[in-house]
Amino acid sequence: MPMNNTGGTEIILENCAKTFPDGTQALEPIDLKIKAGETMVLLGPSGCGKTTTLRMIAGLENPDRGGRITFNGDDVTPLPIERRNVGMVFQSYALFPNMSVEQNVAYGLKIRKLPRVQIAERVGEMLDMMHIHELRNRRIDQLSGGQRQRVALARAIAIRPRALLLDEPLTALDALLRERLRSDIDALLRSLGITAVYVTHDQGEAMALGDRIVVMSRGRVAQIGSPRDIYHKPQNAFVANFIGSMNRLQGRASEGRLEIKAGSLPWKGKQRGTVEVLFRPEALSIVNEGEANLRGTVATSFFLGDRCRLVVEGICEEPVIVETSGKLNHAKGEPVYLKLDPDELMVVE
Ligand code: ATP
Repeated sequence: MPMNNTGGTEIILENCAKTFPDGTQALEPIDLKIKAGETMVLLGPSGCGKTTTLRMIAGLENPDRGGRITFNGDDVTPLPIERRNVGMVFQSYALFPNMSVEQNVAYGLKIRKLPRVQIAERVGEMLDMMHIHELRNRRIDQLSGGQRQRVALARAIAIRPRALLLDEPLTALDALLRERLRSDIDALLRSLGITAVYVTHDQGEAMALGDRIVVMSRGRVAQIGSPRDIYHKPQNAFVANFIGSMNRLQGRASEGRLEIKAGSLPWKGKQRGTVEVLFRPEALSIVNEGEANLRGTVATSFFLGDRCRLVVEGICEEPVIVETSGKLNHAKGEPVYLKLDPDELMVVE
């Protein structure tokens, strides 16, 4: 039985800056609106202020004077974590190592003095939801990393929090486990309809889990948008370069044409004169000579299993990255004929 009374908390941060006592300004004033029931991912390089933002939402840090945080319109700014009713999951599990799985999951419910029968019922429900029922009597120090993180999630949602706050919960796990738990977390968040804020520096995780992503850079919000918007319509050079792989070429744009080193392309942009154009590897496809608008030479080829990543020279000043099916083999020095989709060209200020 999914719990259905947890969703529905809209979280708003207004003018929330953070300066630490040592003078470090971790965050410039930011405004953020997290819709009820959505999963908002905070993504960015180390030190950009993701964790600080999450900790402010949790009530573990206060914003600087003038900052305000509301949950469904209630001003929670002065409230400490224990009065905000949020569930938290960290990279390191923060579980009680000597207690059993069941006792860990029940902990927050005991503190809230729920009747014993209700606690047992809720704990059972959580263990089922996280697929750890058979581990209920084990001690935490007898569990694997992935199992511990399942317990941490079960414990966090058992209290029926107003929001679930996750700080790099998968970072310590190996790739296969990470992927499996990621899809379980996704299913969990969807079925609960809970508002979740998820901190990660992993783009794949952000794309897979986020309804929207906040890309952060140096204590500021660089862009907020759906994973598709962030990927296809980066608003600035930071986001363009931080997310995914990006190719760049310089050229001279005139009405309808873009002249580059390797030839000329159709041009739909408004810019004229010298331009720098960005495009994703998938904007390029390898074609027969007759269909090609570009010709290059393979400099390096990386076999990635499901696909092959080629570094191609001769198109423009910098080499470009091209992705192809893993079945094809392209040797160094081989010529390649490419078609660049003019609709995929971006100019980012
Ligand atoms: P990471 O991915 O490495 O955890 P992050 O994006 O979560 O990075 P934060 O932990 O929010 O970044 O830190 C933002 C900035 O604030 C960093 O420069 C960090 O060194 C600084 N900072 C964090 N906590 C404190 C503190 N208690 N005192 C002083 N500076 C701090």
